[in-house]
Amino acid sequence: MIFRQLFDQTSSTYTYLLADELSREAVLIDPVQEQLPAYRQLLADLSLNLVMALDTHVHADHITALGDLREALGCRSMMGEQSGVDCVSETFADGQVLRFGRYHLQAMYTPGHTDDSYCFLLQANGQAMVFTGDTLLIRGTGRTDFQNGDAARQYHSLFERLLTLPGETRVYPAHDYKGWTASTIAEEKACNPRLQVAGQAEYVALMDALDLPDPKMMDVAVPANQSCGQDSTA
Ligand code: FE
Repeated sequence: MIFRQLFDQTSSTYTYLLADELSREAVLIDPVQEQLPAYRQLLADLSLNLVMALDTHVHADHITALGDLREALGCRSMMGEQSGVDCVSETFADGQVLRFGRYHLQAMYTPGHTDDSYCFLLQANGQAMVFTGDTLLIRGTGRTDFQNGDAARQYHSLFERLLTLPGETRVYPAHDYKGWTASTIAEEKACNPRLQVAGQAEYVALMDALDLPDPKMMDVAVPANQSCGQDSTA
């Protein structure tokens, strides 16, 4: 499998390019609008055919490239069925299998950071990987204080779903602010300070106490992303 972890410096977003080296079918997870020329160049350089572009959730900190990629390259654009976004080609639901060539992503509904948050599981060459969006970050978890965020639901998404994956599963988040690129489920279970809680009540109290400022782009990004990045005045 072809795998590239791409970084948008402005929003500290990781975008993942995955492709089947035989069929050349490719998928982009969480593409950022400003990086569209770079994605097109990389797809051309590697002779890849983009078949799908997915967002793990409606982002508040950058504008998605989903609409522009669909228009430029004819790929399917997809968000979760809970996103309420109607500009995408299709929505996905919990457990849905999203194929590209010989590989597939399995959608896992993991609400909490937002009510439309998903993770994507992938098995490739004997290695399990999970693209965790903002549900599970490296040594952190996505905030739960806006966009219908809910710390109790996030606790269940983390402890009953993500953390029950095999420990060696590699974790690839949607952001990192320190330059860390990957982790594993076992490593996060052992070392992630947000996960060292006795139960749901303690997790909710921890998240409630964070008191974070709103993301700089929130007022622009959320409405823009609800129109797939193609009308920022929506
Ligand atoms: Fe987010």
